[in-house]
Amino acid sequence: MEATFHWPSSMEAAVSLTYDDGLPIHTALVGPTLEQHGLRGTFYPPIPSDLRYHPEHWRHLAAAGHELGNHSIFHPCRRIPADQYAWLDASYDLAAYSPARLRAELDVANFVLTLLDGKTERTFGTTCCHTTIGQGAAEQPIAPILADLFVAARGALTQQPAVPSSMLDLHNVGCISADGRSLAELQALVAAAQAQRGWAVLMIHGVGRETHDLHLELDVHQQFIAWLAQQPTLWVAPFLHVATYIEQHQRPHA
Ligand SMILES: [Zn+2]
Repeated sequence: MEATFHWPSSMEAAVSLTYDDGLPIHTALVGPTLEQHGLRGTFYPPIPSDLRYHPEHWRHLAAAGHELGNHSIFHPCRRIPADQYAWLDASYDLAAYSPARLRAELDVANFVLTLLDGKTERTFGTTCCHTTIGQGAAEQPIAPILADLFVAARGALTQQPAVPSSMLDLHNVGCISADGRSLAELQALVAAAQAQRGWAVLMIHGVGRETHDLHLELDVHQQFIAWLAQQPTLWVAPFLHVATYIEQHQRPHA
């Protein structure tokens, strides 16, 4: 089955650039930079982020062809160990979320995003790359809820490219943390995806050291985008586009 899958137009690999947490730099610099190079990205803003204060900036970003994805309303994560999640109020501990609560929160976030961009097909970017709610014997994967609400979801932090196959769960697509990496490291990650004819889903937070504790240096980001745009066999596309392509070209053969 795997041999029947091909990326479009003889591409060797797919790359999705996903930017988390709704930072002002995303609309001020990242979107325009990608557009200058003919590329489009995926942005996962929680609702009370810059999105809440400058919705017009985010509407403009979406209108330019970038993907607005769901990153929940309140950015709940599993606060385990709690001292590493002191930045997150205990009210938003995913380990204490019920399925109904998570579903309702993600549904309302979808509603807000649809008001901004008019789209009804949405993807989810897991918060803190966490993929379960509840704890102990009650801990359960969120993928079934995500499958009801989303075309696909960026899931666990695997630090490896996702490889299209019958085993690939489009509601838990492994991702790679790009923050803090050098240009050479980023290029090596993409080369690894090409070698496996896979999909490098890169998770980025800030761009520039003042923008977020987790960030790519500004010059590294700009050089990486320019380099990506010059690679003839890389399909650089929003997460939704790549996931939809895989869904349409692989599942019928699975
Ligand atoms: Zn986040």
